[in-house]
Amino acid sequence: MRPEPARDPARRAARLLWQALRPEARNVWICLAWLLTAGALDTLGPALGKAFIDRYLVPRDPALGTMVGLVVGVFVSGCAATWLRHFQLVRLGGLAMRSVARIRDTVHHHVLRLPMAYFDSASTGALVSRVTNDTEAVRLLYVQVLFVMLDCLVMVSVLLVTMALLDWRLMLIAATLVPAVLIVVAVYRRLSAPAVARSRELRGQLNAHVAESIGGMAVLQATGASARYAARYAALNEAHWRARVAELRANAWLLRPALDLLGVAMLIGIIMAFGLRAPQGTLEVGVLYAFVSYIGRVTEPLIQLTTQFSQLQQSVVAAARVSALLDEPRAPQPAGLARITAGAIRFSDLSFCYTPGNLVLQAIRLDIAPGEFLGIVGPTGSGKSTLLALLLRLYPVSPGTLSIDGHPVHDIDEETFRTAVALVPQDPFLLAGTVRENIAMGRPLSAETLEAAARAAGAHDFIATLPNGYDTPLGEGGSRLATGEKQLIAIARALAGDPRILLLDEATAHIDTATEQQVLQSLAALRGRLTIVSVAHRLATVRDAHRIAVVNHGRIVELGSHDALMENESGLYRRMVELQRLSGLDTG
Ligand code: ATP
Ligand code: MG
Repeated sequence: MRPEPARDPARRAARLLWQALRPEARNVWICLAWLLTAGALDTLGPALGKAFIDRYLVPRDPALGTMVGLVVGVFVSGCAATWLRHFQLVRLGGLAMRSVARIRDTVHHHVLRLPMAYFDSASTGALVSRVTNDTEAVRLLYVQVLFVMLDCLVMVSVLLVTMALLDWRLMLIAATLVPAVLIVVAVYRRLSAPAVARSRELRGQLNAHVAESIGGMAVLQATGASARYAARYAALNEAHWRARVAELRANAWLLRPALDLLGVAMLIGIIMAFGLRAPQGTLEVGVLYAFVSYIGRVTEPLIQLTTQFSQLQQSVVAAARVSALLDEPRAPQPAGLARITAGAIRFSDLSFCYTPGNLVLQAIRLDIAPGEFLGIVGPTGSGKSTLLALLLRLYPVSPGTLSIDGHPVHDIDEETFRTAVALVPQDPFLLAGTVRENIAMGRPLSAETLEAAARAAGAHDFIATLPNGYDTPLGEGGSRLATGEKQLIAIARALAGDPRILLLDEATAHIDTATEQQVLQSLAALRGRLTIVSVAHRLATVRDAHRIAVVNHGRIVELGSHDALMENESGLYRRMVELQRLSGLDTG
């Protein structure tokens, strides 16, 4: 994953929240209005209580009717405030969930459109956690920012106003609570931030560790590395536990106790001020009662807010990360409208590197005619798969051009491009779906087309033996199938779209000789009807190609038919063929 941009996470988080909220801004305003009402109702209780004390209790003036009225008023306003608040919490919860669902969709959508180069350096675990965990943390942020903070702000401001109306000097004493809380939070943040960051980092490592060990379970068990892995995990786990304990210590000292202490200090201050002024007869007992209950109400939401502060901090960081991911530029969507009709390919002086300065392909010049079957051979790491990746438009090409039917590849309409160019990759990738879904890949293809493609790929026979035929679920990554079978399905998938250009990367590497013959026959049947570019290690599979390009260190060093290349006695191709003959690999 790239380093986090240095921009302020809080600002990023706020921007993300606002973007996701915008469609529901009205709901937020309504919520705010109701919260204000709830706040006002909340302050009404003690105010009525004050009237009760000062007018009837202290003067010992039992006007029963009014007294009952006041008590009922206190009760009703309290109930109404609670009810309103609950109702708003539910509303905000819904709002938060909808917004998070929106964010998650956006993020996933965005990730699908990132350029391939991004994934070369990204870690899968980290990306998965962006899309799921981090967006979930954003939900907490919503509930906390929108509800707890909003409610707290509303409450504190309404209470301060009410207090000012009752007695502004006492209000000033109570108001010192706000900066005091801010100081406690600042100190807390200072003390806990390193532990919080560390425990987060360690949690990431723990997750990655589990994911890795599950992914490589077969290797782990076969090499007897389980015990070492377990020990490494235990060490990580303990470090995580220590970081959490340090965090907890900061929480335990600073949050609840420190804030409770502040609340008590405030009460003492108010009672003292009251006591000092009481002999002058300027204060009523009811005011004291109202203030005491108001102080309780101000401290409670502030305490709630601060105890959730570490959670809030984490959520802000998570939201900032999600927002940073959303800022990653997408792969440019080709705007061109050019079409592929024949399938002629031209590389002109094309060079390419994954990382700057590290040329993987150099000055490739190659013309492939429509309907030609071109074999590509060469040592490992020579750049064969890279050639195919460029043909698939997975990376931008800058020095030199690559064109199909005379149009630079990036000028070709996206949909046309994806139907016209099909790939059978080096490691077949299957989705956790049925055979049918894996061949169709969401394209609207009829059952006949699918079956014809499967037959052409030589996959029909083994599919027929599966328990539910074409409707058999294949498990995650096609884990129920042998590698060769996965490859056959990948071939069927490529053929099903009736492409103009078919790219095969070691398409028959894992297939037995008999099935391979069948696939080669199917390909031979397609010969001339579409352009085929086939990368092969086993040279026999491309022996019948019209031409064979030999790639070495990113350059095309030889080009010609099998017979022509064999004539060159010192040629790389001939050497490779002879080596394979000697090792018995060449079955053709
Ligand atoms: P093989 O026969 O083993 O499949 P290949 O000819 O297909 O090899 P490529 O996969 O094209 O080789 O790789 C060519 C070079 O580019 C290699 O040196 C490889 O390390 C490098 N390379 C391949 N993919 C990437 C990538 N995504 N990021 C950086 N370098 C890469
Ligand atoms: Mg390769």
